[in-house]
Amino acid sequence: MKKTLCMSLALCVALLCCCAALAACKPDPMKTAVQNGDNYTIVCSYDAETHVLSAVQTLKMTNRSENCFDEVKLHIYANQYREDAATSVVPNAYRSKAYPNGASYGEISFDSVKVNGVPVAFTVGGQDCDILSVPIDGGLFPDKGAELELTYQVQLANAHHRLGYNDNTVNFGNWYPVLCHVDNGNYTESPYYNVGDPFVSDVANYDVSFTLPEGYLAAATGELTEATNEGGSVTYRYRADAVRDFALVASDKFTKITDTVGDTQVNYYYYADKDAESSLAAACGMMKFLNEKVGKYPYSQYSVAETEFCYGGMEYPNLAMVASGGNSYREAVAHETAHQWFYGVVGNDQITDAWQDEGLAEYLTYLYLDETGAMPLNRSVIGCTQTYVTYVDVLDRYYENVERTMRPIDGYKNDSEYVVFTYVKGSLMFNTLYETVGAGKFWKALCNYYENAQFSVAPSAQLIQCFAQTCGEEAANIFTNFIDGKEVIGKVTD
Ligand SMILES: [Zn+2]
Repeated sequence: MKKTLCMSLALCVALLCCCAALAACKPDPMKTAVQNGDNYTIVCSYDAETHVLSAVQTLKMTNRSENCFDEVKLHIYANQYREDAATSVVPNAYRSKAYPNGASYGEISFDSVKVNGVPVAFTVGGQDCDILSVPIDGGLFPDKGAELELTYQVQLANAHHRLGYNDNTVNFGNWYPVLCHVDNGNYTESPYYNVGDPFVSDVANYDVSFTLPEGYLAAATGELTEATNEGGSVTYRYRADAVRDFALVASDKFTKITDTVGDTQVNYYYYADKDAESSLAAACGMMKFLNEKVGKYPYSQYSVAETEFCYGGMEYPNLAMVASGGNSYREAVAHETAHQWFYGVVGNDQITDAWQDEGLAEYLTYLYLDETGAMPLNRSVIGCTQTYVTYVDVLDRYYENVERTMRPIDGYKNDSEYVVFTYVKGSLMFNTLYETVGAGKFWKALCNYYENAQFSVAPSAQLIQCFAQTCGEEAANIFTNFIDGKEVIGKVTD
């Protein structure tokens, strides 16, 4: 007996050692994402008099597809602010909010493009002068890399938008050339849409040195590693690993307050907010809630910036832009913070499946408001149901066969329809899941999704699969019925 026991003990010890070794071997997803990510180095300087940003951007990239590319393609969203752009940056209904001082235009212009140190004949094309094509001599074969060097200027518009200057802040969102996402071996050159957030990007690593006039503070993606004052300017250097974009908001009016959640420093930059502590608390509260419920936030820094913006807010990795003076300001802070998990860590195709991050971020905000006692969940759900039913009822009066599917963003007639079907109906879909499978399984499924899809651009099928595996096929049917427009909501029938 004793011998057997000893052998069992030895076996147990050996097994434990094996398990420990296996655990140690399990690759850290963040490290893997950093290793597999392309590397952007941007040195840029903003002139607050001319509103021009001058930049030199180096991009070390690898072709991870199975195709050989003759050209590397990058989105240049900054060109959407052109006067002759076919698609304006905002729908007409938002023009006065986006341009309170009248029409204003911006663009990106390139001085030179080099590949591996050699100047090349690049082209600016795409559907709306929104794609930069960089030829690769001899082609870029699978697993081969190239180093691009882009020298360019971005003229900012006087616009309360993702990219633009205003009386209080300067927003730098979607400002630099970013690699097109590769899907099925091809670059996706999807154009800009003025509905939704029409961006799909892969995680990459960034080293950005951003020079601003002295006295400017900046909220940005990544960790601030250096701040140098010289000749009336200040240069902030940021290191951001495994993030899917780099954005920044600058202002000479900012005050900064800080708190910590887990291993993350949370910063709030504001200039008009009369109750800044409560806004910071909303960001921290939401972070703590999602850290516990969904999974740990993997970055060391997160900033919320009060700014001028024609919508409620906009999410970027480690950064949220929130519109100053908005009606539901702290709800917007919570919503944008939820995007840190869904859009930021777990990406999705925001053009084809906007509900995947928007519906979820909105519903997680309702759950957070319920948890804190700020707003009972059933009141949020009743509000959404009424909005949806009223909207569809009105459409039914004027049109035949009103579309009830959750569509790609270019399938919506206008911004209102996009909001109703993506945020409102999206929230109702997640609420139906929550009520049907119960809170325990709902959070378990979301944890699995977060763990398995982090740092990727997750297809909606992966989210549905995670729920089906954890909660049964019934969950998959709920998704399908809502997406296909078969679900009966309120008194609306198909
Ligand atoms: Zn959102």
